[in-house]
Amino acid sequence: MSWIAHATPTGTVTIDWIVTSIQSFLSSLGVSQHGHTVALWLFFAGCGVLQLCLSFLVCTPIERYWPLTSWSPRNPIAADVAYAFFVRLVLFPLVAFFEYSWLQQQLDRFFLAHSISPPSLTVLVPALASWPLLVFFLYFAILDLSDYWRHRLSHRYGWWYGVHSVHHAEDQMTFWSDERSHVLEDTITYLWLIVVGLLIGVPAFQFPFVILGFRLVGSMAHSNTRISYGWLGDHIFISPRFHRTHHALKAAGRRSCNFGTALSWWDILFRTAKFHDSTVETGDAGAEPAMVTGSWGEQQAAGFRRMVRLARRARKADAAKVTS
Ligand SMILES: [Zn+2]
Ligand SMILES: [Zn+2]
Repeated sequence: MSWIAHATPTGTVTIDWIVTSIQSFLSSLGVSQHGHTVALWLFFAGCGVLQLCLSFLVCTPIERYWPLTSWSPRNPIAADVAYAFFVRLVLFPLVAFFEYSWLQQQLDRFFLAHSISPPSLTVLVPALASWPLLVFFLYFAILDLSDYWRHRLSHRYGWWYGVHSVHHAEDQMTFWSDERSHVLEDTITYLWLIVVGLLIGVPAFQFPFVILGFRLVGSMAHSNTRISYGWLGDHIFISPRFHRTHHALKAAGRRSCNFGTALSWWDILFRTAKFHDSTVETGDAGAEPAMVTGSWGEQQAAGFRRMVRLARRARKADAAKVTS
């Protein structure tokens, strides 16, 4: 099992059995070259699509029977659906498993060559080794904390908000909107999470499941629904109402709040939480129409243009500060 070089925690045997079964099935179809890699790709892409199906089965009825608002006419959702499938079928298996796993193997080799233990929560606190579910939750919470700061910083710097604003441009927010983001932002997000994951030693086969956990909470958080999680639920998870406040027209850009991805704890801890808000309208008044209702390619191009525009504006503002 060369793809799990870092650790072999609980659940590995089951995944290995599923991957081996997919590989056997592929062999029976005559696909034997790179069979193991293809089987792994199919496994993780399949997990991504299963998560999307689960989100669809939960979010579609609640948006239909308990909607917060309705729109007429409804914007086409083809671009948002394209984002969701592109991420699940291509980006997620490629980056969250193959790239992460490869980087972790390189890191393990380096540490082995220098007789150093690889960075790991369970090496730092050996008692955790007998609590695999707690360890997984700690990985989830630490990566969620790091993503809170990535998101908060993306609202702080002009160029970064330029690419992030593709996500904020959505003026008819539904659970499909979760994946609407610029490829440059996806790249930064994955690199950010990968670095933190490697630093705390998240095993290669657990890292993709943390990401899927984020997506599960994220889909629900973008839903167009008036369903409430209640006081306690709101203070644990990012709820639809909490995240809608982040997407409010008046909160776009620097003045935003509620930056969390899955857990609302970090917003509470760093005083950026805003619970009592009745936002319904979402969007970003500064987004050009192509970013709101354009095709996938038009949204990406508009994101690049806004990134350059906001970076130039920030540079001019800095220069004005120096000369004044
Ligand atoms: Zn944001
Ligand atoms: Zn969002």
